[in-house]
This record gives sequence, structure tokens and C-alpha cells, in this order.
Amino acid sequence: MWDRSSVRRDVYPPIREALEEMSPGLDCCMYCGNHMADTVDHFVPKSRCALRTFYWPNLLLACSTCNSRFKGSKHRSDGLVGSLLIDPTRENPFDHLDLGLTSGIYRPVEGSPKGSWTIEVLGLNAGKRPRARSSAWLNLPDDLMGWADARSSGDLKGMKRKLYRMLNQPFADVCFAALHKAATEEAHQIFAEEDPQVLELLRDKELRAALQV
Ligand SMILES: [Zn+2]
Repeated sequence: MWDRSSVRRDVYPPIREALEEMSPGLDCCMYCGNHMADTVDHFVPKSRCALRTFYWPNLLLACSTCNSRFKGSKHRSDGLVGSLLIDPTRENPFDHLDLGLTSGIYRPVEGSPKGSWTIEVLGLNAGKRPRARSSAWLNLPDDLMGWADARSSGDLKGMKRKLYRMLNQPFADVCFAALHKAATEEAHQIFAEEDPQVLELLRDKELRAALQV
């Protein structure tokens, strides 16, 4: 049914639009973070479980590379419980992946085979991705400070603008990784070299709520 022309015409576009709204960054692939994601992918492939073809939590926005090239290797052991890929609809990726903010490189959280497999299969550290993440990290403090300045002067528009920038930059995962790290016990060590205001803002309840953390 998924491939029927009526489904392609009437069902597929609203699903894609809803997923685009939910994706971090601008239409970013929910697997690799690449921008320009324009296909709806089934986390558990249709061939493995046809009953999940129209099951909302099984649908993710994906770039064409992730949707096709990795299809065979996404679910190494078996489609349902055996998947070794992180399922972003049910798991917090940061339980399995640790992003070095300065290096922009993902490493598996110790003892997480899912983390290693996801990095390998999706090529999270391939090409210029680490460099792009690293520059996203360099830009983040400016946006945080800008948001705080706008708040102290009661500039609601300015606050919104900064939030929009943080949420819609191509590598929005960097912002979420920083927010995650800021809430850990090691936060003071991790952000030791930054302006202390950066950690303070990453822990700011209003900001976290606005970013839906
Ligand atoms: Zn992708």
C-alpha cells in the first residue's frame, strides 16, 4: 500500500511535512544529521514488519543516502528487537553517543555496542561532519549570550530570533549535546575552558524549556 499512487499523493506529503517540523535543524536527517533530508524512512523496514508501515513511531525523516545505502545494514541481527541502531523515537541518543564539542567527533558511550554500530553505519564522523560540528560549537556561545542579552532588555523578538538560530542551524545536535552535558555531574570539568556564563545559560530553566529539553 505504501507505494500506491493515492498514498504517495495524499498520505506521504503530510507525513513528511510533520517530520520536517520535528527534525532538529532545517530538514535534517534523523539518522545522520545531514541537511536536505527529503524521504520518509521506516526504522523497522517494511520488508521486516509490514504492520509497521503506517505506524507513526516507525517513520523518520531521512536523507536519500541513509534511506537507501544503509538499508541492508541498519538492522543487523533482526528487524524488531534485535536492531543495533539507536531508535531516536524511543531512546535518548546521548545514552549511547558522546559528542566531543571541540573536536565534533562522536564516540560511543563506554559499553554501548549501539553507539559504535550507529557511528559506523551512519558514518557520523565521516568527511567534514566533525569540522562542521566543531564550528557549530564555536558559534553557540554567541547565540546563548545574545539570548540572555535580549532577555535582560525584555526583547522578546530578539530572544525568539536567537532560539530560532540555535534550533535551525544545520548541526543542531551540537546544541542538544551541550545541553545534555550541562546537566551532568562532570559539567564543570567539561566546560572548564568556557566563559562560566555559557554553562550557566545551558542550565537556565527558561532556555531549556524553550528548547524543549
Ligand atoms: Zn542521513
